Amino acid sequence: MRMDRDTINRFSRLAFLCILGGVSIGTALFFAPDMFSLQDGRPGCDTPIHWRLGDVDSRFPLDRDAFLKTVIRAEALWEQPLGKNLFVYDPDASFVITTQYDDRQKMTYDTRNLEKKIDQYNRSAETLRDAYDTKRSAFERGQEALSHRMREFESDLFAYNADVSRANASGGASQEEYASLEKTRKKLEKEQTAINKESERLGKMAGDVNATAEKLNSQTASVQSNLIEYRRKYGEPQPFIQGLYESPLASITVYQFEGKDDLRLVLAHELGHALGIEEHVPDDQGAMMYAMMGGQDLENPSLTEGDIHAFNAACPAEPESGRDTLVRYLIETPLSELSPQAAIKAFRG
Ligand SMILES: [Zn+2]
Repeated sequence: MRMDRDTINRFSRLAFLCILGGVSIGTALFFAPDMFSLQDGRPGCDTPIHWRLGDVDSRFPLDRDAFLKTVIRAEALWEQPLGKNLFVYDPDASFVITTQYDDRQKMTYDTRNLEKKIDQYNRSAETLRDAYDTKRSAFERGQEALSHRMREFESDLFAYNADVSRANASGGASQEEYASLEKTRKKLEKEQTAINKESERLGKMAGDVNATAEKLNSQTASVQSNLIEYRRKYGEPQPFIQGLYESPLASITVYQFEGKDDLRLVLAHELGHALGIEEHVPDDQGAMMYAMMGGQDLENPSLTEGDIHAFNAACPAEPESGRDTLVRYLIETPLSELSPQAAIKAFRG
């Protein structure tokens, strides 16, 4: 059930009317001091709102003490610019500020973990991609050099074989020719061994290039599966309720926050509702009382003109009520001069 400020005021006036009607004004005078102290005013406008701290679930990132300090920092966001004491921490208050741990906060932690993983992946992937590129181009350069070398070897081998065939066809090589062919043969053999060795080295290099690619691919697949799992669990990103105020001055429940600054904003927003601001400030994402969190300055938040306007609209300066006039009459008029008629007249205004 929602009760607005006006309803509360009407209730207290009705209560006062009953007292006035039930007893003679003479008797009422003896109750007058009590009646003065019963003067309630409008909580948040004329009198500070008393609040206590309920349960701070230990799964939230702040402990009770840090949470309490953050509520006090949130109060100050209203109190300092308005120059009023609007909120009082009071362990006996009925208005409670509390937390409720559920999927919203769990999602916050899962999101943070996922972001960490993606961050790690990005850094690792960059290193791996660089390594892959370097290794691959070294491999390609080696491969090109080797195929050039192989073509030269083949042409040298072809020339050697032709020389051998020619020598055989002309009835054998001279001693000199034989020595020269033998020298070429040994050179070719040596080159063949070197080519085989280089080919083996390049084979290992190719393996290394592939292993680097596989590592990168498996890391990509892993982070992709994390993303899919997250999406399956939480669906498309969508707005959710971080905090909730229940009127009249019943409770503020906090469901989600990242850290102190974020919590301060959520609390300041809900405290704004507690002050009687029922409508959100439209068209100003920086306003404390804008419906969505995110556009406000997280580190140095301050009330906007829209916020102050909303507060002033919720707490307009009230003309003196009949009750106040009566109270003033009772205080200011000497006992001997008090008259029921004047009192009733004062009350009715
Ligand atoms: Zn709101």
